[in-house]
Amino acid sequence: MRLILLGAPGAGKGTQAEIISEKFGIPQISTGAILRAAVAEQTPLGQKVEKVMQSGGLVADEDVIALVRERFGKPDCANGFILDGFPRTIPQAEALDVMLTEMGIGIDLAVSLEVEAEKIVARMSGRRTCPVCGATYHVVYKPSSKGEICDKCGAGLTTRADDREEVVRDRLAVYEKQTAPLKNYYAQQNKLRLVEGQEELADTTALMEKALVL
Ligand code: AMP
Repeated sequence: MRLILLGAPGAGKGTQAEIISEKFGIPQISTGAILRAAVAEQTPLGQKVEKVMQSGGLVADEDVIALVRERFGKPDCANGFILDGFPRTIPQAEALDVMLTEMGIGIDLAVSLEVEAEKIVARMSGRRTCPVCGATYHVVYKPSSKGEICDKCGAGLTTRADDREEVVRDRLAVYEKQTAPLKNYYAQQNKLRLVEGQEELADTTALMEKALVL
């Protein structure tokens, strides 16, 4: 299964990607998580992208495309993958098509998680992220069993700087302008499926399962 998860920031892509990744035994490729790790380690790329990420803007297409190209080279991608947060612009989608064609493969589906903007703003204030292993939680919808400590690795959980309300609104505007047009891009390839992500996690997970039947 080779899958793209589309949807606004905070729609629940990361959570659904984790669930699908476990169910199908395929890796979740989250460009946001890879970039946050680069910032945490202060690699040259991390230093370069830190400011734009904090402000809610998008990292340059060529930098993200290079990351994904490198990630595809790892052996765990052989049986498929879920792209979470990539592509986010039309040039990224076109570059992805070129990369996959070179690899002799294609995308099976692009699933867009649909959630209203106001619901997203309310949700994002409860998000928590593990700065060490990248696991994601929500204080209401998906709490860690250990409170503010990561269930997976035991590190203290943090709120991302870009989850603050004013930054979230900027990120939603970026999404509408740069990323929402991708729905049309994949609809034209007959690969788009829409999934309602408005209700409880279990409801979204059930709808997602139905949408993934090829
Ligand atoms: P995310 O965790 O997917 O919400 O991504 C967090 C931030 O990382 C975004 O607001 C962007 O600054 C950056 N980012 C992640 N993926 C991409 C991408 N495909 N293109 C450009 N910037 C990205």
